[in-house]
Amino acid sequence: MGTQLDFLTTEQCPVYLGGYDHIIVAFSGGKDSVACVLHLLDQGVDLRKLELWHHRVDGWDGEFMDWPCTNAYCEAFAAAVGVPLYWTWKVGGFEGEMLRENARTAPICFQAPQPDGSVIVKQTGGHGGVLSTRRAFPQVAADLSVRWCSAYLKIDNARTALRNQERFVGKRTLFLSGERAQESPGRAHYARFENDDADARTSPRLRRHIDRWRPVHHWSEKRVWEILEHYRVNPHPSYRLGWSRCSCAGCIFNGPDQFATLRHIWPARFARLCGYEREFDRTIKRNIALEALADLGTPFPVSEADVRAALSAQWHEPIFLNPGEWRLPMGAFAENAGPV
Ligand code: SF4
Repeated sequence: MGTQLDFLTTEQCPVYLGGYDHIIVAFSGGKDSVACVLHLLDQGVDLRKLELWHHRVDGWDGEFMDWPCTNAYCEAFAAAVGVPLYWTWKVGGFEGEMLRENARTAPICFQAPQPDGSVIVKQTGGHGGVLSTRRAFPQVAADLSVRWCSAYLKIDNARTALRNQERFVGKRTLFLSGERAQESPGRAHYARFENDDADARTSPRLRRHIDRWRPVHHWSEKRVWEILEHYRVNPHPSYRLGWSRCSCAGCIFNGPDQFATLRHIWPARFARLCGYEREFDRTIKRNIALEALADLGTPFPVSEADVRAALSAQWHEPIFLNPGEWRLPMGAFAENAGPV
């Protein structure tokens, strides 16, 4: 891998990376989180401080919403860059939280590296909160209290893992995430740089300084693809299948074409989503059932090789492609079926 520190010279890094003890990227495997890592490489980040965190939306061993390849892709990317990847997850994952019935939300687990180089799993929560029932998909809304998947399966995980590790106490940590203003009006309002939710810099006991940086917040999609092309990063297979965002395979924001494609390439998973709609007597989109929605769409012209890559739990491709191999994937600049 060759990193070129003179790329994007028009913009100096507004953040002094040398002032941090830990630099963490919330790494979904999607293009924006990849761009965050590549941007850090451009800035000459000290790789010894850098780590990636991936929130496993289906829990440790669940299989429901996500692309089967995502965990393996994230692992391969971290290995190719030469930095550690740590997992966080909610016990039972998306499906467990969705099926919650007169129960508390499940505990959160996260991997925590230790001073001796080992990595342990810590678990927290699951005892407090009220007994309640979901038995419904998250709602397609900007409000994270009803679009519960983002809050309960990602945001809470990061906050919990930052608040419950001794290694962040008395240290300065930079936490990066890849939201972009162009994605939605909701995200346009996010601050580019702010105190993280888990920050406790004024606490005399903790002195836990955590800044949140969204380095690609003002970037266009074009600029994101340019940095992937520059480093010749093999993008997550969902883009090659036609998705504009690397989200869960069955993401609630998928439109007709995405669900038509999912039904075509993965009929069993599509049928499982439809089965829950019938069981809950409530559809993901509220006003139309998935079957009818997929009927309105046209499957993307996928290749068998890309379907195999996306639906495999193993990753067999290089992360950094050879010169001349990089191609803009079919999903680039496609319709944005993303957060509102
Ligand atoms: S990708 Fe879609 S379904 Fe998955 S957690 Fe995010 S909003 Fe929810």
